[in-house]
Amino acid sequence: MGKPLSFNLLPLFFHCLLLLVSASPIQDEQSNIISRFQLYLQINTSQPSPDYHKSTQFLLSQSLSLSLESQVLEFVHRKPIVLLKWPGSDPSLPSILLNSHTDVVPSEHSKWLHPPFGSHIDEQGNIFARGSQDMKCVGMQYLEAVRKLKSSGFHPKRTLYISFVPDEEIGGFAGAQKLASSDVFKDMNVGIVLDEGLASPNENYRLFYGERAAWMLVIKSSGAPGHGAKLYDNSAMENLFMSIESIRRFRASQFDLVKAGVKAEGEVISFNMAFLKSGTPSPTGFVMNLQPSEAEAGFDIRIPPMANLESLEKRIAEEWAPASRNMTFEFRGKGILHDDLGRPLVTATDSSNPWWTLLEEAIKQANGKIGKPEIFPASTDARSFRLLGLPAIGFSPMANTPILLHDHNEFLNQAEYLKGIDVYESIIRAYTSYTSPGRHGDSRDEL
Ligand SMILES: [Zn+2]
Repeated sequence: MGKPLSFNLLPLFFHCLLLLVSASPIQDEQSNIISRFQLYLQINTSQPSPDYHKSTQFLLSQSLSLSLESQVLEFVHRKPIVLLKWPGSDPSLPSILLNSHTDVVPSEHSKWLHPPFGSHIDEQGNIFARGSQDMKCVGMQYLEAVRKLKSSGFHPKRTLYISFVPDEEIGGFAGAQKLASSDVFKDMNVGIVLDEGLASPNENYRLFYGERAAWMLVIKSSGAPGHGAKLYDNSAMENLFMSIESIRRFRASQFDLVKAGVKAEGEVISFNMAFLKSGTPSPTGFVMNLQPSEAEAGFDIRIPPMANLESLEKRIAEEWAPASRNMTFEFRGKGILHDDLGRPLVTATDSSNPWWTLLEEAIKQANGKIGKPEIFPASTDARSFRLLGLPAIGFSPMANTPILLHDHNEFLNQAEYLKGIDVYESIIRAYTSYTSPGRHGDSRDEL
């Protein structure tokens, strides 16, 4: 006979008790972190009428709990920018700016499994909310990383700024653009900006060193009107369709490069038709036996910074809207792709940029994996800072996560969210401890 069972289990019982006692403070802290994220997600900052009052109050209360310096800037009435500061011990060094936007895009509530401002957590730990990926996660991760660093006794050498800007989802004109062109920003002496990226369905984080610019093109054609039965050249419709066919071939050739894996989405020129307008209205719709004298089409074009703009503009003028076919064109918005010296608006991703090297190392140190650096396919606030000649990198630490920004049922898994905080902790530690080179006023020379 062996020893009594209860005797054998005694050490196991104590071991379990010890585990329970030692694990609970960590679990408590993790649930506090998630609760704070949920609170931010529950504030309805959805365009077109975001509750910036509530988000500002919330962020200021977070700042207070972290003993950060804070100010609310209102360059545009009722469009508050919350700017937080953790002063470094050497204010002569260029500072670090972590940017995020507070607004989110609208949601079709009826198409969501859980309400978009409920921040419901399902059995898998997925947190459902509009803004869980884009980009309230990042804003809160910055703050949680600061909380961890502060409680570990860390003191930054460089000053750290954290900005929460409004209206990114409607162009950022009242937010990041105003901040970047302000005297406040000049006084901040920023050396590097981090802003949003995208989720990654695989294990590699995605880093963005530039972004495509949006050109909104409208082409118009005119021609003699005619009977609906007549075949003749140079009608407005025929001329417009010749252009549309040619643009579609170009679109397909660019898309083929992406499909074949030769280029990433951000590296090709995308053309998508936004509207097509023509016809002679009648009380029941359109006159059917008349070929109209005018027709127009609008296109959303996205262009990577390294594209040959001269050849694209030449093509628009000579092939897609040629005066020889009675066509004209205009741009209703033309995003900037180059700086004043004609250089593409991109941030270096090699050893010439110490911020890049530091970022790569810091992410790896926090056990994060990194994919090939990319061009962001759409627009972000980062362009406002790149336009100033500053390095800016887009990064949202979401690996193994489906890309759901602006989609129904946007969610982020809580484990992934917590991992992201560790990554920012590592980045902030590395960035704010970096002392050489760079003194006051030469933040650009060090790049
Ligand atoms: Zn965003």
